[in-house]
Amino acid sequence: MPAYASGGWAPVGGIGKQLAQYVERGHRAVKMRVGLQDTSVDDSAARVREVRDTLGPELGIMVDAHGTWGVRDALRFARKVEAYDLAWFEEPVSADNIQGLAEVRRATDIPVATGENAQTRFEFRDLIAAGAVDVLQPDVAIAGGLTECQRIAALAAAHELRVAPHLWGSAILFAAGLHLCVATPCATIVEFTRGENPLLHELVEEPFTLKDGYVLAPEQPGLGLTLRRDFVRSIARD
Ligand SMILES: [Mg+2]
Repeated sequence: MPAYASGGWAPVGGIGKQLAQYVERGHRAVKMRVGLQDTSVDDSAARVREVRDTLGPELGIMVDAHGTWGVRDALRFARKVEAYDLAWFEEPVSADNIQGLAEVRRATDIPVATGENAQTRFEFRDLIAAGAVDVLQPDVAIAGGLTECQRIAALAAAHELRVAPHLWGSAILFAAGLHLCVATPCATIVEFTRGENPLLHELVEEPFTLKDGYVLAPEQPGLGLTLRRDFVRSIARD
């Protein structure tokens, strides 16, 4: 699966360089944070402009606002960055505000992504029915497991929407989401955290390595992982 680098917290003057470092590690798409951490909507837009100017026109850029804006500011931001060809706008408003997500989606052609905290096919059904989402982001550990996520993916496929699971967690979650994606035609990309994350990189024997921007699914039975007992012991409480 193609894997996008998920990170991007640096301010104006540093954000282009930060995301260029992810590209140097092989990613062909990157996700940056916007919204609350920035001083204004203009500041967020300036950071996006810097990233597009630094990376050039070919690379995918996603933004994640973590629900920090209201509809009005989300739309002001969307208008200011419309020229930069964003792959998606994640949680532009609170993920609980389904009507607000739908308002944003109606008013911009930047795809809206949401769902990392949504549970079961029924919540995703409601998001789809409200016209609130283009990219469904179930977290296998929150949405209800692999089977439930396959049902969610079937809903997405029937509405010509995409699935890009939320994979910010341990190696176990990452492997589960990766397996879901390789079995799901409407899943086009996986999230690869670029934050500090020992639970992703030290918990299991098998490293998740990136090759030409792609990460390969394990081929062993089950999730295909071997727990590192010594690491588990090192982080376990008495
Ligand atoms: Mg997110």
